[in-house]
Order: sequence, then structure tokens, then C-alpha cells
Amino acid sequence: MTTTETTVFETLESNVRGYCRSWPTVFATARGARLTDEDGKEYLDFFAGAGALNYGHNNPVLKRALIDYLVGDGLTHGLDMSTVAKRALLETMGELVFEPRGLDYKVQFPGPTGANAVEAALKLARKVTGRTTVLNFTNAFHGMSLGALSVTGNAAKRAGAGVPLVHAMPMPYDGYFGVADDLVWMRRALDDSSSGVDRPAAVIVETVQGEGGVNVARAEWLRQLATLCADRGILLIVDDVQMGCGRTGPFFSFEVAGITPDIVTLSKSIGGYGLPMALVLMKRELDQWTPGEHNGTFRGNNAAFVTAEAALRHYWSDDRLVAATLAKGERVRASLTALVDHFGGMSTRGRGLVHGLVFDDASQAAKVARVAFELGLLVETSGSDDEVVKLLPPLTITDDELTLGLDLLAQAVDSVRHGH
Ligand code: PMP
Repeated sequence: MTTTETTVFETLESNVRGYCRSWPTVFATARGARLTDEDGKEYLDFFAGAGALNYGHNNPVLKRALIDYLVGDGLTHGLDMSTVAKRALLETMGELVFEPRGLDYKVQFPGPTGANAVEAALKLARKVTGRTTVLNFTNAFHGMSLGALSVTGNAAKRAGAGVPLVHAMPMPYDGYFGVADDLVWMRRALDDSSSGVDRPAAVIVETVQGEGGVNVARAEWLRQLATLCADRGILLIVDDVQMGCGRTGPFFSFEVAGITPDIVTLSKSIGGYGLPMALVLMKRELDQWTPGEHNGTFRGNNAAFVTAEAALRHYWSDDRLVAATLAKGERVRASLTALVDHFGGMSTRGRGLVHGLVFDDASQAAKVARVAFELGLLVETSGSDDEVVKLLPPLTITDDELTLGLDLLAQAVDSVRHGH
């Protein structure tokens, strides 16, 4: 018997609401990889706030740091004033993220969303190079504001802009044509003065396209892309909003390729606790901003700085999280491969702890996600036709929870295939 009351969402909340339609219940509490609705039904979370909850819901270590900070009347809102929370975060970023990786980045605090970070990165690239065009990739997703939409692939999302989206040009992502060297067109277009492609300020890329359907770029392709950019004085922006903070194993998703992007965007899990926060990392010489040139009221979410710092200290002082993520990822891969072999009509791809189950019949993905929800598992779909069930569990999920979630997913696939 359900007591769930949803009228107010239907009468007062805008039609733009989305996830609540996929998951028609009212959630009340959450801990780690589990959410509980107001009727006491539990759900296992293979969604993790679209990548904002890599360390799980209400992570006790981060919660302790946050509570202590709030009880001590630490600043909550601080614009870009210097605060003890921000100092601690910057020091820890330097010590645990930049120094061990030999990165000489400076840190910009834009507004707190991924799109805010992308806008700042595009703006900086144009300012530094004096050029206007940015190259993006097929199936890319970078956010909903105009600049971010201009480098996003999805036609329906782009249409929402209501104005022409300009000064960007899409290039084929790795695997788009299914041939060995998908950078052929890009290289040719850049080097042929009659190709009609203007010399770009920057290239913006996701190493794994999360929203685009869990498309995984090969390390070799990323290296070639980095070289191609460096040789031509084009800035390389890696959008690590969804794949950063350990989602693919290492802290940054580009580490496997051994490349150093000129600019990196981070958001989602960098705040640690699901609190809004974003960063733009830029090579030192690119920090050509003048004071206040790019600003915003909510650049100083100090509560997020506290949980971000606590997350870095707790999870990134050693390699344990990386090893655990890769091990869990292998289990997911093995389980999905077994599903594909057993049922057919699908394939799987992924890296670290982000995996996709790709359905030949796109409509089955949404059905599987729907049945999974009824069974108590939250998964979302992605890809241009929503043909991919995307698995994004918290990195801190326990082995038992991972097993349970994979079992529920297998049950959902079985149910959709056999109509029961
Ligand atoms: N970049 C990437 C790669 C993303 O996955 C997202 C969000 N899904 C964004 C940017 C936009 O982030 P936000 O929704 O916080 O604006």
C-alpha cells in the first residue's frame, strides 16, 4: 500500500521536471548507495546524482566535517573572499591532486554548476587565443547554458536554446565512423586552408561521453588529439565534470592517456557531498583573467569547500579508492558481458565504474530502467536515442550492494525480454 502524495509536484512544479517522472515516488532519506522513499521502500542507487555522489549519499566522514564547520559558524556564503575553508581546499588540491601528478594548474571558482565551469573555460580559451571557434565532438554534452549548448550534440537540447548556436563546429568522436583513425577529418580540416574550418581557439572533449551514451575514447585517440592541438596552438579543454573525481578510476579521467589538458572543468563530485561546486583548472600561463572579469554570486560555497577538502583527504591520500573502483568496474563489466552473451541484442562498454548496456532495440532501455525502478534499482538511460542503460553507482558502494544491483538489473532485462 502506497501513501505517496505527488499532487503538489504536478500542480506547482514546472513541466520541465524530469527524473521524478522516471522514478515516481517521494524520496525521504539516503545513505551510501541506498535511498528510502517515504513509504519505507529502499532503492539501490546506480545513478549517484548523475555523477555528483561518487562518495555516496550523506557520507559520514564528509557529514562530520560539514556539521563541525556549520556548528562552528564557519562562513557558508563567501563570494570569492579568502576564507579558511577555501585556503584548506586549495592547499589540499595542491598537495594531493596537483603535486603528485606534476600539474602546474591554477584554480578558478566559477559558479557552482558544470555549465558554469564550461562557460568560463570557453570564455577563457577565446580570450587567451583571440579566436572564436571551438571544436566539439559528436554526441558531446556540456550543459544547458548557451555556450555549453553550442558545443553539445543533442538536437532536442540544442533546439531549446531558441537562438542560433554559433562559433562551434562538431568533429567525429572516437569510434564515430567505426574506423581506426577518426581524427582524419579533423586533422585535414585544420591543415587545409580551404576546408572552411576556421582556426579554433580550443577543442572541448569528454574522455568518456556520459550523457552521449557512455562512449569511451581510446587513450591512443586522446593522445593523438592532444598532440594535434599542441602542434597547432589550439587549447585542449577536457570536460571532466562527470568523469572526474575518480569515476573512471584515477582522479582525472585523462590520466590513463598521459596527457595534460590546457584547461579542465570539474563539478558534480568535486564538492564531495552533493553540494554545488565547480572548478576550472588552467595551466598557469593561461590565467590571463583580470580581477573580477568573470564573476558570480555563488562562487564561494564554503560548505562545499569543506566537504570537498574532506573528500580529498579521506579518499585521495593513497591509491585505495582507485584500486577499489577499478576492481568494482571489472565486476560490472563481467556481469554485463554475461548478460549480453545470455540475452543477445545488446552490447556493453565502459571504463572504471561507468558502464553502459546498449540495446539494439532502443525502446528496451527505458523499459529496463522502468522495471529496475519497480524492483528497487535506480538507473538512467542515455545516448542519442536513449538506447543505453547507464550504470553509475557510487564509488563507495559495497560489494554486496553491487552484486544486488547487478542481479536486479539482470532481472529487469529478463523481465523485459520475456514479458513478465
Ligand atoms: N559537462 C558534462 C560532461 C556533464 O556530464 C554535465 C552534466 N551532466 C555538464 C557539463 C553540465 O553540468 P551541470 O548540469 O551541473 O550544469
